[in-house]
Amino acid sequence: MPHLTDIEIARRAEKRPLPEIAAKLGIPGAALIPYGHDKAKIAADFLHGLADDPARSDGRLILVTAINPTPAGEGKTTTTVGLGDALARIGKRTAICLREASLGPNFGLKGGAAGGGRAQVVPMEDMNLHFTGDFHAIGAAHNLLAAMIDNHIHWGNALGIDPRRVTWRRVLDMNDRALRDIVAGLGGPGNGQPRQTGFDITVASEVMACLCLARDLADLQARLGRIVVAETFDRRPVLARDLKAQGAMTVLLRDAILPNLVQTIEHTPAFVHGGPFANIAHGCNSLVATRAALRLADYVVTEAGFGADLGAEKFLDIKARIGGLTPAAVVLVATVRALKMHGGVDRADLGREDVAALRRGAANMARHIRNLRGFGLPVVVAVNHFDADTETETAALIDAARAEGVEAISCRHWAEGAAGAEALAHAVAGLCDGPSDFAPLYPDEMPLREKIETIATRIYGAARVEMAPAVERQLAEWQDAFGHLPVCMAKTQASFSADPARLGAPSDHVVPVREVRLAAGAGFVVAICGEILTMPGLPRHPAAESIGLDGDGNIVGLF
Ligand code: ADP
Ligand code: MG
Repeated sequence: MPHLTDIEIARRAEKRPLPEIAAKLGIPGAALIPYGHDKAKIAADFLHGLADDPARSDGRLILVTAINPTPAGEGKTTTTVGLGDALARIGKRTAICLREASLGPNFGLKGGAAGGGRAQVVPMEDMNLHFTGDFHAIGAAHNLLAAMIDNHIHWGNALGIDPRRVTWRRVLDMNDRALRDIVAGLGGPGNGQPRQTGFDITVASEVMACLCLARDLADLQARLGRIVVAETFDRRPVLARDLKAQGAMTVLLRDAILPNLVQTIEHTPAFVHGGPFANIAHGCNSLVATRAALRLADYVVTEAGFGADLGAEKFLDIKARIGGLTPAAVVLVATVRALKMHGGVDRADLGREDVAALRRGAANMARHIRNLRGFGLPVVVAVNHFDADTETETAALIDAARAEGVEAISCRHWAEGAAGAEALAHAVAGLCDGPSDFAPLYPDEMPLREKIETIATRIYGAARVEMAPAVERQLAEWQDAFGHLPVCMAKTQASFSADPARLGAPSDHVVPVREVRLAAGAGFVVAICGEILTMPGLPRHPAAESIGLDGDGNIVGLF
């Protein structure tokens, strides 16, 4: 029998009333701000009370990450949801923390953000579309600041903003390559000062990163005020607070900063909140949601974007550092298919058993395991089982993990739900009871250049970093002006190197840092290694062509 699609499974789910889901975490009805029947935000006063309540301690934080992604798919979100459900099934008070979805990829390439198969968050249609409007609010706050910049220049430019050096662009939650580079302000003096600019996708906005790293509204407002938007003619930075924009931006984000509560198909509470890009930003859900979940649950399962070289490194060095989080354990998702691709097999040949290729490709997994243990964290590998995987291949994968000193567990949550991930849940709970000596990769006060070198050599296995003198000078200037910030690496997710074609575990490669960008509001410096698109385009045949409504008004074609 063919499998049902994700949306078919999600639509058949029997959702429980949301107050019942909230009650599992001791969230009273009065603290829920309903958005329809099965989505709610958590009220700000309840969140503040949580942080201050001396009777509460934090639960254990479990980070789900993965080997370098391949087109064969790994299933991080699916495993995050499956593990959360399985922990709940074995009697643990559990919450899941995920990112919200961007409209751009949903209408571009097939693939949602709610997990898949029997391990999904519902209502998945809402989550993959407008949800509770957070991204629209973030876009509005971002574009308000853009409008205030052009308006300031129009009315005489008292700050002396150099229109050629405005770095703040506009955003839209859509894949639209035609807007990457534009000229704004055409049409005569009444329309302002013409200048070249462009659009990024909303998830690439620094406002998104600020919202996801802020502790509360006051911290958010301070971060928004620190955003650098331009330079003056005499090359001094212009901040959002110089334009007095931060107050109004914060007002627009008053509701967006509150975490959204939904449920999985198996009725586990899930906070779905925030969604920064995993390349030019840090790629995890909001700190507000994670911290609330830790106060409310004994086990919190969360996901970081892309592979562990990018997602987990940034989770540990940026989010955990800024938020004071200490993970208890890491789950590294690997698949037989993806490791075979790392071992040189073409996507078209993945249906054929190839243990030798799997063993070669396992070098990719092995390096991620070593890296994660280098952070002082206990690791378990979740082998996300696909129908075509053979027993011999799965056994070879488990052996390869064992050779690195960690357990690997075959999981069938995609096909079977929580029951298929019980063994993983027991293993994770066991790891959480053991010691964790978590320490970030580099200390706060290390010079920026050295931070980049440390990540490249220790995590990517690179020989060295290549950096133009101008880039190096820029880093030194920012360090003097903005203090000790962590680094946010923007690199291809496909490889440990900066070349997406180099699969497996390349070493002795050179990481070119072409450009650096300052995100002073979010609180990091972005190091761009390779081509990074901040406004994606649609493919030749976008998913949008097959999305529509059926005769009963149900959405079809959305995964
Ligand atoms: P990631 O978070 O790593 O990007 P997802 O968990 O979102 O990946 O999964 C991507 C897609 O792969 C989803 O459509 C999901 O249904 C599918 N998928 C995940 N695990 C499996 C599996 N074991 N078998 C078949 N399809 C799967
Ligand atoms: Mg995902």
